[in-house]
Amino acid sequence: MTVEAKFTDQVNRNFDKAAAYTNHSPGLLKQIKICNSVYYMTFPLKRDDGSIEAIQAWRAEHSQHKTPVKGGIRYSMAVSEDEVMALAALMTYKCAIVDVPFGGGKGGVKVSRLNYSQAELERITRRYTYELFRKNFIDPGIDVPAPDYGTGPQEMAWILDTYNSIAPSKLDSIACVTGKPISQGGVRGRIEATGRGVFFGLREACSDRHDMKQLGMNVGIDGKKVVVQGLGNVGYHAAKFLQEAGAIVVGLSEREGAIYDQKGLDVCKVFEHRRETHSIVDYPGAQNLNATGDVLELECDILVPAALENQITMANVSRVRAKMIGEAANGPVTSEAHEALRKRNVMILPDTYLNAGGVTVSYFEWLKNLSHVRFGRMDKRFEEATNTKILEAIELATGKKLTDNIFGPIAQGADEEDLVNSGLEETMINAYREIREIKSQHGDEIGLRTAAFIVAINKVATSYLELGIFP
Ligand code: NAD
Repeated sequence: MTVEAKFTDQVNRNFDKAAAYTNHSPGLLKQIKICNSVYYMTFPLKRDDGSIEAIQAWRAEHSQHKTPVKGGIRYSMAVSEDEVMALAALMTYKCAIVDVPFGGGKGGVKVSRLNYSQAELERITRRYTYELFRKNFIDPGIDVPAPDYGTGPQEMAWILDTYNSIAPSKLDSIACVTGKPISQGGVRGRIEATGRGVFFGLREACSDRHDMKQLGMNVGIDGKKVVVQGLGNVGYHAAKFLQEAGAIVVGLSEREGAIYDQKGLDVCKVFEHRRETHSIVDYPGAQNLNATGDVLELECDILVPAALENQITMANVSRVRAKMIGEAANGPVTSEAHEALRKRNVMILPDTYLNAGGVTVSYFEWLKNLSHVRFGRMDKRFEEATNTKILEAIELATGKKLTDNIFGPIAQGADEEDLVNSGLEETMINAYREIREIKSQHGDEIGLRTAAFIVAINKVATSYLELGIFP
């Protein structure tokens, strides 16, 4: 794919566009925009065959206006200093947009996980953690990593274990990383959080009558034709939640190919087919597309790029036929392509908002780790007993016995997963309304991306000003 400008330049261009709608001083805007620190490292990996390989890795801390900084760790051959700096900046803006009190960070290791055994990936992860620790780039109060492209709960568990082994006396060490397995202090709902947040964001956008009318679509998710690029953590869950809400998933793609079925693909069955055959192609009843990138050009209501950055560029934007684009991945639409889509009245839900569900639930996990108690543990039974008393009083007053399927769900107290999902839903709805309001204040002259950046810039600026750094 064509890359129009460096990723950091793309992010900064979007920032500058929004900054023009604020009245902060040039110095303050520069401080918000620049990346505070980047740590580049190389370390040796002993491969299973005894050979030695030099591994390149980075960690960027974009802004410490709030601490700790927070951001995922990516394992990909495309990782570079430019990429981690851009992604760290997006994390700063994302956290501000959803009111998560963190600065932005990002890490990357230049490896393709397909080329390494499980034991080698473990050695890479543990050594990377050690290198971060040596330079104070990991700590519950300084810098807290999480999963991103190419990493998941297993890597987070290795990070925690390595951190624990080198800082054994720290009471809060379990909060040094999020996205951990439940047994290692993870929180229920974190794995699917980003995809669920993508769903909540799209659902909120699709509930706006004015916007749907402008796009020539009905209100609601039900019946919308959806295409998803990338069936990894974010893409799979986003597609699954959209389908459960009534969307028709007509196209899906993975790195090896893409499939199409106008009647709708069963997301879970496609996922199962890929697990069994190691490929998304040749899914029974579906049509194979010529190239994996062709999925972006399918006619649909909502296109959800959920793989990597720079997917919709000036090279293919003229062929994109979606009415709405939900940026589940970070930076999937270049700033040039964004302009071209806006001119065609395509609605774009920006990454800085739409994929913030992951960091929101990571924040909940961090809070759980610091409080050393599972959400719901103190109040679930109490809530259940209170609800039961109220329902029994209603039965007594009305003289009618409620059936079990009415009584049971109402009486039930909220457990950890209920609370996490509810907190996520609240966050995504509030943030969307805030962005949408800013967009309206500018007479719809700006898009949601610029509106989201304005929200982020104003919040980070307020933090700096209140810290007294810029009197
Ligand atoms: P993942 O590794 O779980 O999944 C990514 C998937 O994309 C993989 O299955 C990969 O094979 C596929 N892919 C790669 N190139 C492709 C191509 N050209 N076409 C189609 N599929 C392709 O990663 P993830 O965690 O789902 O992250 C995906 C994106 O979402 C990234 O941009 C990441 O930064 C962003 N994101 C992730 C999280 C999170 O919580 N995991 C949070 C916020 C944003």
